[in-house]
Parts: sequence; structure tokens; C-alpha cells
Amino acid sequence: MSYQVLARKYRPETFDEVIGQDHIVQTLKNAFARDRISHAYLFSGPRGVGKTTTARILAKALNCLENSDGTPCGECRNCTEISTSRSMDVLEIDGASNRGIDEIRNLREVVKYPPINAKYKVFIIDEVHMLTTPAFNALLKTLEEPPPHIKFIFATTEPNKITPTILSRCQRHDFHRMSIDDIIKGLDNVLQAEKIEIDEKSKQTIASQADGSMRDALSMLDQIIAFAGSKIEIEQTLSLLGIIPSELYFQIGNVIRERNRVKLLELLHKVFTQGYSVSEFVSGLSRHFLNLLISCTDSSSELLELSTDLQKKYSEEAPNWDSRDLLRYNDQLVEMERNLKLVQQQRIYLETVMLKLVELDPSVSLDELITRLSGSVSKHSSDNNPNPSQTFGKVESKSDPAPVVNEKKSEEDNNAEENPKSEEETEENTDDENTAVSLDHVIEKWDYLISKVGENGTSLSTFLSHGKPTTLKGKKLVITIPRKYRFQTDVLKKNSRKIEITFEKELGVNLRMNFIVSEKKDSEQEDITKHPVTERMVDLFGGEIIK
Ligand SMILES: [Zn+2]
Repeated sequence: MSYQVLARKYRPETFDEVIGQDHIVQTLKNAFARDRISHAYLFSGPRGVGKTTTARILAKALNCLENSDGTPCGECRNCTEISTSRSMDVLEIDGASNRGIDEIRNLREVVKYPPINAKYKVFIIDEVHMLTTPAFNALLKTLEEPPPHIKFIFATTEPNKITPTILSRCQRHDFHRMSIDDIIKGLDNVLQAEKIEIDEKSKQTIASQADGSMRDALSMLDQIIAFAGSKIEIEQTLSLLGIIPSELYFQIGNVIRERNRVKLLELLHKVFTQGYSVSEFVSGLSRHFLNLLISCTDSSSELLELSTDLQKKYSEEAPNWDSRDLLRYNDQLVEMERNLKLVQQQRIYLETVMLKLVELDPSVSLDELITRLSGSVSKHSSDNNPNPSQTFGKVESKSDPAPVVNEKKSEEDNNAEENPKSEEETEENTDDENTAVSLDHVIEKWDYLISKVGENGTSLSTFLSHGKPTTLKGKKLVITIPRKYRFQTDVLKKNSRKIEITFEKELGVNLRMNFIVSEKKDSEQEDITKHPVTERMVDLFGGEIIK
């Protein structure tokens, strides 16, 4: 006998054999008991949970020659033909590959003729949401006035894509995602029948990897049996399914908590040498932190979709963690997961972010450090960070033009002070003369002033024309030079006396020139925080920008 995949070999043959969908099974059985079978059903739900299997059982129950109480005998000609997809009266159509109007017109032709051997002609249309709109419309005509010998069973993973006019003509049943326990129950039936020995951990692993789908669980089991034979142990299961053992996540979590960089890199090396997928590792670790977080919140761990052993392990581990740290780790990992696709050097990126997690731990002291640093660099920065305990890993940047070079060229002030603030204060204190000129006035006359400077030397006026008067305080006029002309600033500074004399002549006030370079990248005065490079950096390393 040829090999049959487990999912097919052990496909449930009666309603009672269907696992995890009791609410549907009971309704269908009742319908048979009361002889109230609808002419059209819609089975919706995730993949691999028994929609088409239930549809076939329904078709058999309708057409079984022995029983009419909703329990197909499985022996009669109709039952066996339907089970093996050989029935002339039960037609399974894949909506994904027969989605056009021609197929549905063809179907409408077939609908006209009565069944050959069975009581009902049953059309099972899988993935019905894939049908085109004209096909839907054609189908609708049939559904409006169905001949009494016709039954429709539609299956779909996306019921929201089905038009309301179709939905309203069907009896709808929503299949549930299968629980881990239900999947294990299903696996146990198969394992017993196949006489396979398997450890509890393997079963748990398969069930949780199947993600609610019995079909997926059985195909994983197929794969493992093909390799390991009739005796299966957890090591084989893990390596065959390429699953990263939960132990590794616990180890990595611990070294992050202990801030042991060397051990962390060793463990990451293991991830790479064992050939695990990086994105699976990242999502697994993120899941690990989430599990810890749930365990921190709810010690009963019932929310965790895990085996009892693992649940216990998480509850034991949870008290070692601060839930705020876990949340932040998770944020970083979720972001890393998103960025992984864009990164060429996945390993380097992974290691960088993971090392960053190690650094994240003392978030408060890091913030203090940033506050202290920003305080000494610029007094403005600290004002914009009112809540340091909630921030970490920030990338500091300034979007306002700040003095890069801030020197005075006047003879008496040659030993210019470093601190611009105290400079201003000094300025105010010595402001004994009446300035009698406003910044607006200077701006208004700017072009004229430049032309006057030009009379002394053309290059100087050209250089000056790149600048803009930005502040006037006391007698100090600040002229901001765009970054791309920064090399001309020196020339301007050397000749500032000349400019001052010209200005005094024209304005009647002895202003002192201060040339500063704008920190902005170019003359368009682009906000550096919006710059693609900055955004990319912030994205990649999960920082925020403090202005
Ligand atoms: Zn039968």
C-alpha cells in the first residue's frame, strides 16, 4: 500500500471524530436530528482546523445509504466514494483555481441535473472568497432558487471578503483555532494508531509550533517520523523542525539581565553556528520576554499558551525581572524584527542590538549621564527632557543653529570666551551706549550694506552675501553663515574690522561682527532631524531625538 500522509490517513470520518469544533458539530448533528438541513453552509476559520473535513462528513451524512441520523456509516458505496473523492455527486471545487465566471456557469449547468447515485448533489467550494465578482454573481443566482436536490458548502479563511448577498443566503459556522490541548489530543490518536513512541516535550513542541492547525501538526509529525522512525525524542524534534530550544532563550535572558557581554556573544555565536534563522530567533526571544511579562503580571500563567512545565519555569523566573525592562526589551526586539529584512549584515545588526539590550538595563543612570552631558554642552537641551526616567538611548541632535565657531574679532576681546552665554551677559553689562539700530533695520539695509562692503574688496562682499544677520544684541551683530560656506567664515573674520568700519559709516553705529556657522546641513535650512540619514539611524537603533 502506498504511503499516505497522516493528515489524510487519519482524517475524521464522523462528526464525533472532529476535534476542537464541538459547537459546530453539535449544531450539525441537531440539524440532522430535526431534519432541518440548510441548502447552503459557509464554514469559515483558519487553515487546517477541519473545515473541508467537516464539509465531507456533512456530504456523507446527507448521502449515506445506511444512516440518515447524521452519522455516516463509512461503509456504504456513497460513504466510501465521498471519502476517496470519487463520488459523481459530491464535487469539490477549489475556489482559488476555478475562480472565473466560466467555471461558475458550468457549475450552474451541472446544478440542473439531479444526482446520479446519491440523494443530494453537494458542491464543496473551498477558498470561496477567491471567486471573482462575476463568478459570485452567477453563483448568487443559483443560491437564490436552489433546486431541492442541491446543497452548497463553502469554506473560507477570509469570510470578510465574501459579499453580504452570499453570506445572507448561507448558514454560517465559524471554526476555531485549535488549542494546544486539542492538538495534542489529535496527535495522541494518531500516535497510538501508528504505534509511535514519543516524549511529552516533543508533543508539546509540535502542538505549539502548529499554531492552531491540526493539519500543520500532523505534517510536522510526518516529517519527524520519516527521520526518527517509531521512537521520537525532543532533541530530534527540535533539530528537525529547526526550533530554537526554550532553554537558549532563558540563558540569553539571564546574561542580558546579568549584563554579561562575553557570555551573550558566545550564546549568539551558538545561534549562528547551529544555523537557526535569525528572524525566528528574534521573534522567539521577543515571545520569551512577553511570556515573562505575562508571568510577572499574572502568576497563574493561564494566559500563556505553553505546556505546564514551561509555564512553571516562567513563573519561577518572572520574579527576577522588572516588567518595565521586559517591555522595553520587547520594544527593541519588535523593532529589530521589522528592520531585519532591510539589513544586509544580519549578524552584525543582531549583535549590536543585543549588546544594546545589555546597556539598556541601567536606564536611569544612562539618562542621568545624558542629562549631565547635555547640561554641560548646552543649557537648552535639558529643558526639553522633562521626564528623564522614561527615556533611554536617545540620539542627541540640535535642530537650531548653534554656534560652532563663536569668536570675536575685535582687538580687545581677542581672548574670546568659550561660553556664549556668559559672553552675552558681558555684552549686556557693557551696553552703556544707545544702539539706536534694530535688527530689522540691518536686515532691511543688508543688500545695500553688502554693496558698500564690495567697494572695498569684491570677494569680501560675496562672502558676506551668503550670510544673514540673525541677532542683534547690544552692539553685537550675529551673522549666520550656511554650513556649505563655512570655509569663507575665516576670511570674513579676518576682515571683520573692515566690515565694521563700513557698517559704522552707513548705520552710524559701531557694531561688532560675530560670524557663526549654521549647523544645518545646507542652505535650505533643512531640519536635521528630518534628514533621511538621521531618521534611518534613529530607526535602526531605536533612539529618539532630543532637540
Ligand atoms: Zn454510508
